Amino acid sequence: MGNAHRAGRPGPPRERLDEGAARAAICEAAREIWLRGLGGAGDGNLSVRLDARRILTTPSACHKGHLDPEDLVIVDLQGRTVVAARGRKPSSELVLHLAAYAARDEIGAVIHAHPPAAVALELAGVPLSQIYVSEVVFAFGLPATAPYTTPTTDEVGRVLQEYLRCYDVVLMPRHGSVTVGASLDEAVLRLDALEHSAKIAWMAHAIGAPKPIAPTEIAHLHRVAGRPPVDVGASGCPPLEPSRARRDAANADAGATGPSAAPARAAAVEAALVEAVLAALRKGDS
Ligand SMILES: [Zn+2]
Repeated sequence: MGNAHRAGRPGPPRERLDEGAARAAICEAAREIWLRGLGGAGDGNLSVRLDARRILTTPSACHKGHLDPEDLVIVDLQGRTVVAARGRKPSSELVLHLAAYAARDEIGAVIHAHPPAAVALELAGVPLSQIYVSEVVFAFGLPATAPYTTPTTDEVGRVLQEYLRCYDVVLMPRHGSVTVGASLDEAVLRLDALEHSAKIAWMAHAIGAPKPIAPTEIAHLHRVAGRPPVDVGASGCPPLEPSRARRDAANADAGATGPSAAPARAAAVEAALVEAVLAALRKGDS
């Protein structure tokens, strides 16, 4: 899970990444993310740390399935453009990437995506930190959900840096996810695990009332996986879920103050979900 125990310590010696290989790897990962429905074509952004001073990142307003390696932009750790093709500029969400690299030296890659099942669970009020399948702990520990922030504002960076100091997977309410890793592959695997486990939780909630794994077993899983769990109180790490008061305030900020859904509509949606899941299961049996 989170690496707060490593925060503040010098990271391992960082090799200078081959820029050409890094450009190709980002384009391939972006295409995979789009093809797999982990975000819309224009959604999200990816970056890798090229060396101690430079970050390679996806440009603003690009189709994630059709990126050319030459489209990518190099910025410094303050977000100033160092190299960009004509007409290209960094994404307006660059601030969250800069926050991640500032949070921990060992972060080598950052992916911001809009994974639909994970975002939908958060919207529906299902805490992502409730774990239903053990693989989550092995993949990235526990996901944290940050307070709501308005996308592209400096507030995003300020809030996320605190979370990314402690957690490898952070959900931004009504928006998307940030997954980090030592490498781009690791960040992709964590995004994939987040969305896959969210789909399982969604299906289970549609069929019945699944029980999350008990805290004692979560702690055991951390030991087996060799991951020290984040000790929120002792480490100064932010909590895994925003408080109810903070969530209500965030909903008000987002203009969502009315009832979430009429009961009849909620029941109809639930019935449709159950039917969809059962149909998928029957198809899988054939
Ligand atoms: Zn976004």
